[in-house]
Amino acid sequence: MTAPQDTTVTVREALARAKALGLDRLDAQLLLSHHLSRPRSWLLAHDDAALTPAQHQAVDADLTRRADGVPMAYLLGQHEFHGLMLQVTPDVLDPRPDTETLVDWALELLSTELAALPAPQVLDLGTGSGAIALAVKHAAPRVRMRALDASAAALGVAQGNAQRLGLEVGFTLSDWWSAFTPPKLHLALSNPPYIDGDDPHLAQLRHEPLQALTPGPDGMQAIHCIVQGSREHLERGAWLLLEHGFDQGATARQVLQSHGFTDITTRRDLAGHERCTGGRWPG
Ligand code: GLN
Repeated sequence: MTAPQDTTVTVREALARAKALGLDRLDAQLLLSHHLSRPRSWLLAHDDAALTPAQHQAVDADLTRRADGVPMAYLLGQHEFHGLMLQVTPDVLDPRPDTETLVDWALELLSTELAALPAPQVLDLGTGSGAIALAVKHAAPRVRMRALDASAAALGVAQGNAQRLGLEVGFTLSDWWSAFTPPKLHLALSNPPYIDGDDPHLAQLRHEPLQALTPGPDGMQAIHCIVQGSREHLERGAWLLLEHGFDQGATARQVLQSHGFTDITTRRDLAGHERCTGGRWPG
């Protein structure tokens, strides 16, 4: 519904409308702040300020979209991940703080097990916005970072982020390993789609790209594919780290073990859920 053009609306009234829609107050303030190009602190001190008709229309449209469950990142066009501000569009998954667990683990390996390598070969499979690849490259500039995604639109977003941040990452359009080329890797990372295709949770995530969330009926399908394909592309002693659902830790460990990986461990996210499982390829 379009907002009427001829009525003046104040900051206070816009916030009241957001409340009536059931929105979180912080989200509403951030959206107003975005469209009025004013800091949130300004809004608090000027709640009788009037919105221009254009601002009113834009704010109203976004409040309605937010109430419909559109992620804040798509409305604001950006989301912070591991200290980097990334541009985010509906072509890519909204980067989540849970995934920082995977990045932290990768950085730890790069400064311990893989510390002796002057230029480790690192790959991010299913990069989306580029979040994992860019965060690792930013924190460990010596890595040779590559990233794959099956979506050309996602790669466009990731490439834009790399350019804006001045980080060198080699991007390739590839359905998992299909277009991967040597050299072999010292570290492979992925936050693949892992939600079962019939999981009711998907309805809440309906504004995000389905192919980034679920690989099909079996949520483990992409993880199987990544683990199986990794073996011919990993250097001896390389590490493979995978994000997965809170209840997929045991299955992920079993998949890595059955494909011959060693040193298999699982890490928990900030909420205490099993979130990432990794292992070492003995070669
Ligand atoms: N962790 C996300 C969620 O459940 C899903 C991300 C993914 O499938 N890779 O909201």
